[in-house]
Amino acid sequence: MSIASAADAHALLDAHDPILLTTHTSPDGDAIGSELGLAHYLRARGKSVTILNDDDLPDHLAFLPGAEGVEVFAEGAFEQKKALAEAELAVVLDTNAAERLGALAEPIRQGGSEVLLIDHHTEPEDWFDHAFQRDTAAATAELLCEVIEAGDPALIDPEVATPLYTGLMTDTGSFRYSSVTPQVHRTTATLLERGSIAPAPIHSALYDNRSLASLRLLGRALGRIRLRYDGFVGYTSITPEVLEAAGAGSEDKHGLVSHVLSVAGVGAALLFTETQGGTKVSFRSEGDTHVDGWARSFGGGGHRNASGAYLEGYSLERALRDVLDAAPQFIDVEEEGPALSDGEATELAAAMKAQSG
Ligand code: 5GP
Ligand code: MN
Repeated sequence: MSIASAADAHALLDAHDPILLTTHTSPDGDAIGSELGLAHYLRARGKSVTILNDDDLPDHLAFLPGAEGVEVFAEGAFEQKKALAEAELAVVLDTNAAERLGALAEPIRQGGSEVLLIDHHTEPEDWFDHAFQRDTAAATAELLCEVIEAGDPALIDPEVATPLYTGLMTDTGSFRYSSVTPQVHRTTATLLERGSIAPAPIHSALYDNRSLASLRLLGRALGRIRLRYDGFVGYTSITPEVLEAAGAGSEDKHGLVSHVLSVAGVGAALLFTETQGGTKVSFRSEGDTHVDGWARSFGGGGHRNASGAYLEGYSLERALRDVLDAAPQFIDVEEEGPALSDGEATELAAAMKAQSG
């Protein structure tokens, strides 16, 4: 794997055509924003670009310019196979792990195209041909601003700027996480100026457009918040029953875990979501409390302050117990008295389950 600078990444993009862009499963604002911003820029430079993802675009990002052009990978779709086969360069955005590409992992790894990683997660895998990555970057969109800066920033128009701004805004919790530096604000300001866009309509499109079901789900999840380790670790959980009672779907839990982190004294927040085959855990933290190692120890990963893991085969009870009991190994909290016994864990989980909101 060769380490690329922003200028190297730009030169690679310039040297290849057609280009395929992809990102992680359950794509977020930075994943989709990065794809759309880069795709518009490359098309303005005359490139043929396909955006192909394993998962559907979430509804709340459908307002982004070009969103209708994001394709979902379907095994056997001829045009998609052709795009994969013809691409000279595949660009993997906003994830550095094959596993997070879903069904596209194999075609991209085994295909003939060169693969360029542009990403800001920790501990990149080493199978990429080229990597422009920095785990201190606030968003993949920030790295793309640097790539475009090294190329032709005059091509930044509203269609490039709106998705990249969305990536920066969503991955920084609206510019409030510790990843936000003066340079992030400078980059963002340049993007707003060059693209002639205003922040307010984008914030409004994203945050003032929530479904009632998602707010009902939030209400139920807030009622289920529990604290451990002297109030430093906060967590809540969502079961299929809770989802149903709120009339919500799993995408309605978007942004929910940050409310747990907003509790005074909580430095690490977890959301456990029970599904058919296992339990998904979202980890968030503040400042020097890093949760990526904690998530990685359960087969996941991510950023220092925002990570996730899917615990296949774990019931909610087991996930709650194993993950929470492991906290002292990864963050600065004191071992608690005796951990929950099996009986207590089952009782607690049953009580939380019964209290569907
Ligand atoms: P979320 O909790 O929003 O699903 O994920 C937060 C972050 O954790 C994501 O941006 C991603 O970096 C990482 N992440 C989430 N789930 C997984 C996973 O299953 N595996 C890995 N490696 N990272 C994950
Ligand atoms: Mn990101």
